[in-house]
Amino acid sequence: MILIGGGRTITRSDSHPYFSDGCVAVEGSRIVEVGETKAMRKKYPHAEWVDVDGKLIMPGFINMHQHIYSALARGMSLKNAKVSKNFDEILENLWWRLDRALGLEAIKYSALTTYIDGIKNGVTTVFDHHASAGHIEGSLMEIAKVAEKLGVRTNLAYEVSDRDGEDKMRAGIKENIDFYEYAKTRDDMVGALFGLHASFTLSEETLKQCVDAGGAEIGFHVHVAEGRGDVADSFLKYEMPVVKRFEKAGILGPKTLAIHCIHIDDAEKDILKATGTAVIHNPQSNMGNAVGCADVLGMFGRGVLMGLGTDGYTADMIESMKAAGLIHKHVSGDPSAAWAEPPAMLFKNNAAIAGRYMSGKVGALEKDAYADLIVVDYDPPTPLDETNIDGHIHFGMMGKQVVSTMINGKFVYKDRVILNADEKEVLAKSRETAKTLWERA
Ligand SMILES: [Zn+2]
Repeated sequence: MILIGGGRTITRSDSHPYFSDGCVAVEGSRIVEVGETKAMRKKYPHAEWVDVDGKLIMPGFINMHQHIYSALARGMSLKNAKVSKNFDEILENLWWRLDRALGLEAIKYSALTTYIDGIKNGVTTVFDHHASAGHIEGSLMEIAKVAEKLGVRTNLAYEVSDRDGEDKMRAGIKENIDFYEYAKTRDDMVGALFGLHASFTLSEETLKQCVDAGGAEIGFHVHVAEGRGDVADSFLKYEMPVVKRFEKAGILGPKTLAIHCIHIDDAEKDILKATGTAVIHNPQSNMGNAVGCADVLGMFGRGVLMGLGTDGYTADMIESMKAAGLIHKHVSGDPSAAWAEPPAMLFKNNAAIAGRYMSGKVGALEKDAYADLIVVDYDPPTPLDETNIDGHIHFGMMGKQVVSTMINGKFVYKDRVILNADEKEVLAKSRETAKTLWERA
């Protein structure tokens, strides 16, 4: 048993949300008990003692939508690059050029650097949406191998699309099924969803093949009405909006992640609620791509289960939470708006959504939950108690303050050192790999 204690402890558990001097007892992969440090040390005198020395203890973050494959694009300037004036052009001029150029080595280093960046920002679970049209078969296994080596919890999907022809579309379906079969043999550290790119790159026949292949039982991970072009395409070809089309095709349901949902109408929001589909909001990516602002507050009002991701934009979930707070205040013109929803998405809802794919619990420090926790170097300049935790996070914290990360009962990052890989060596090799990738793309 390990006791991690001696600091302010935010549990995100309803029964006892905050301890001014808290301690978490961990046995194997699970939390045994959370309590006051003094009492816990007395109760478990033989446990290994990890003193956080006044730092803050809280649950690790869950990123509900990430794109590992985009990692090596940082700082990239492509040959003959065109200026992209809308989201469709960003995909064609940047992301699809990149994903066609990815080989296994680039996928491996994208995974290593993305997961390490996440771990250093306190992310303990990553739901990833992968694309590598240049190398589809085995791509998810390559990423999973990296996740297992680093000790990070992950859920992977390959985005099926018609954009590179029928053979690649079929290979995408096969990759999802192959990986799902592998994930079934693992514990809650590795999970699978059936990835779909987006409505405008998927024909009716392809959607049917994905459902028939077992996608509906697995659950889909799909971009929904991200750009206006996706909606226009759906009306033009199918005479209905995207959410309606996906409902008819059997894509929605409580196991499906609908990413973005920006250009949808009220009837579509009702469909998302009625089908129990979770919607994942990615505010920084949406602002960066200038695709618009999802009606997050309206969907909350309707009872849609809303989660938070980063869409490849950052690894820092606190950044994403802050951006969510800002965009919805800005767009609604109401400074009193969006105080409660961003932390609800990041903590309560992401935990609930991730929990749909696991047998155990993540996202809370409480008895029997997985021991996924972080230690944050945050010494508050103003009083902190259970009534103002979110205010402290919004105005005072960032991912880079995380000094230690424990996942599934094991430290994977301790006192700012990545334990299961040589970080410097990974970064050096990643830079080399990125250089050759940029030349190929
Ligand atoms: Zn995305």
